[in-house]
Amino acid sequence: MLELSTPVQYVKGIGPRLADVLSAKGIHTVDDLLHYLPFRYEDRLNPRSISELRAGEMATVIAEVRTSGLFRTRRMPIFEMTAGQGRSRLKCIWFNATYLRDRFKPGQVVALYGKVEGDLYGSELQLVQPQFEILDDATPSTGSDATEQKLAASLEVGRIVPIYESAGQGRLTTRWFRRIIYSALENLPTDLPDPIPAVVRRRLNLISPRDALWKVHWPDPGESFHDLQASRTPAHIRLIFEELFFVELGLELKRRKQKAETGIAFRLDEQVRAAIKKILPFHPTAAQKRVLKEIASDMEKPAPMRRLLQGDVGSGKTIVAFEAAIIAMENGYQVALMAPTEILAQQHYFSARLILEPAGYRVVLLTGSLEDDRKRDIRRHIAQGNAQLVIGTHALIERSVEFGRIGLVIVDEQHRFGVLQRFKLMKKSSETATDDVKTNNRGTVCVGTGAPARPVERSSTAPPEPDVLVMTATPIPRTLALTLYGDLDLSVIDEMPPGRTPIITRRVSDDRAGEVWEFVRKQVKSGHQVYVVYPVIEENEENELKAALKMYKELSSRTFPDLRVGLLHGRLEPDLKEQVMRLFQKGEIDILVSTTVIEVGVDVSNATVMVIEHAERFGLAQLHQLRGRIGRGAAKSYCILMTGGKVSEDGERRLDAMVRTNDGFKIAELDLELRGPGEFFGTRQAGLPSFQVANLIRDRQLLETASHEAAAVLSGPNQEISQEEINRALHHMRTRWQKTYGLVEVA
Ligand code: ADP
Ligand code: MG
Repeated sequence: MLELSTPVQYVKGIGPRLADVLSAKGIHTVDDLLHYLPFRYEDRLNPRSISELRAGEMATVIAEVRTSGLFRTRRMPIFEMTAGQGRSRLKCIWFNATYLRDRFKPGQVVALYGKVEGDLYGSELQLVQPQFEILDDATPSTGSDATEQKLAASLEVGRIVPIYESAGQGRLTTRWFRRIIYSALENLPTDLPDPIPAVVRRRLNLISPRDALWKVHWPDPGESFHDLQASRTPAHIRLIFEELFFVELGLELKRRKQKAETGIAFRLDEQVRAAIKKILPFHPTAAQKRVLKEIASDMEKPAPMRRLLQGDVGSGKTIVAFEAAIIAMENGYQVALMAPTEILAQQHYFSARLILEPAGYRVVLLTGSLEDDRKRDIRRHIAQGNAQLVIGTHALIERSVEFGRIGLVIVDEQHRFGVLQRFKLMKKSSETATDDVKTNNRGTVCVGTGAPARPVERSSTAPPEPDVLVMTATPIPRTLALTLYGDLDLSVIDEMPPGRTPIITRRVSDDRAGEVWEFVRKQVKSGHQVYVVYPVIEENEENELKAALKMYKELSSRTFPDLRVGLLHGRLEPDLKEQVMRLFQKGEIDILVSTTVIEVGVDVSNATVMVIEHAERFGLAQLHQLRGRIGRGAAKSYCILMTGGKVSEDGERRLDAMVRTNDGFKIAELDLELRGPGEFFGTRQAGLPSFQVANLIRDRQLLETASHEAAAVLSGPNQEISQEEINRALHHMRTRWQKTYGLVEVA
């Protein structure tokens, strides 16, 4: 008998060597192995006879190898194999497949799966690039006594057959997985306990875990083929729901713990409101008002705020952040505002000086490029509580700053940081809060104009947690936000400030560059500014991407010798970068040639044209971010996507989406579809959990359900659910899922 928790090494046919190979795939235990689901299924219940095949259909054919060989045409080598059933024959071809040279031997039985097509002359049918499996050569690693061979054969044909991704550079084949998983299933205890509480199971009609594991690998003959391929059979739903349910349970628990922590209950009275009103340079939009209310109401409560503020580029998040900062400052607390880049930190600093300093708030900018003395000075001011709003890069503030009395941490453009990093940050703020107590004991002066807020006394030793506001321009679909930022409450600015004219987006091939530059010239002549963005800095010999540096030279000396052309890229000295940015902001540069460093947050409302060369090379989210740099004023703005050379199919879809819509949410959804959530958030390396069986895009609906059910379970016990059941579920979450998801860290 095997336990689910048994290491795979002890499964018959695996051993320590193959266990290592599996471990690279994240398969450590029998449970992991059984959650290694087929990525598709083949209907070999009714394999087709060659004579009844029709062109255009997908078909499985089981036949015998007759002849095979490699042919070289002028363009490429083609491998051809003829398979037969009695007197019928079927030609199969693979392009560029020299590796198949010695694969087939006459007389072997093969399963072939692929698209049936008419050949060039339309007379004969053939399978083009079919998937295949040789059915009668035993895989050496599993041993091969007679019974085992018979079993193996029955696993390959006469049923719906699971197809697995191979592992270990093809060493562990789909057939290998099929046999190993089959034997693991056979050796499972007959009654696996179900960790999902009964009431949830009933509500969702979930089948038992054992049933689900069997059927997901070895579907019943009557199972809907469509549901199988779509991962929507009862077996799939059970397993996917289970995974999502326990992740959500962990997140919900975390959310509840956070709500119970000791934070700061900021005072929000007429005086504070008046202070906010005083700084507003414009009438906030209804959406801005709404999110400020949500934020203010969090800040008023004794539990620490953990809120995500989401708003498309240009929707006006900055002023909302400043408003929140005022609440904290008026209460005598300090605020940290962290940006992903120095340029952005600087930009926030300029705005803060413009908007907040006249009202008497003390704002400091802490950047890496400052002289050491100056840095030390600023740090001292921060530690003493003199600086009220501290603006800097995330890295800098996190690494080296000790606050006298931190009350609010604002993280801008969160999508640049990994998910994990955010968690580190929160830990840091609580460490800072510990310092806070010490500093207070040394008698820190409380700055700010209002009376100090009432610290919540829950235990005399626990320091209050600062509030955290995370801002992002990435329009994360709500259900995804639930999981990715599962412990954050969500506020959305879904309205643009008034007076914006929609951006016109056009796509042109770069052989029409002349026309584009003519247009740019006209825009500059009418007083506007232009961005020209390139994917790389220096020309690379391997590819012919136009590089920012080279194009800067060409544009400034040849195309626009009479205009003021500037250059901005990531490798410039920080000082220089700032200078260039400032010149552009002041309107002293007409055309800014740049790499994607301008991507996030930069705000120059007089810029009306964004030319992106080699637009096909950029990701969709990135293109949208870049386009967000224009259209910030009342004048009509234009985004020109230039393409050079051949554009891939995905590239076409990205460009097409850009031309079709300005709606960040629509773009995000498509980007998710094209790239998957891991890359979408740039979090693969930052440790976003990749799910075992769930897929955040495909399973959005189930995710939503799982989230509700997890919340319901935790609000028990009640008539529906006993404390014992809740405990069992929590125990399972900790033992089975928590280590899979570092995120769902439950203290
Ligand atoms: P983002 O959400 O991308 O950070 P910003 O906060 O930089 O956007 O705002 C974009 C521009 O819109 C800024 O120039 C800002 O001053 C302006 N803005 C923001 N809110 C309003 C408003 N309610 N009315 C008019 N202009 C606004
Ligand atoms: Mg911004």
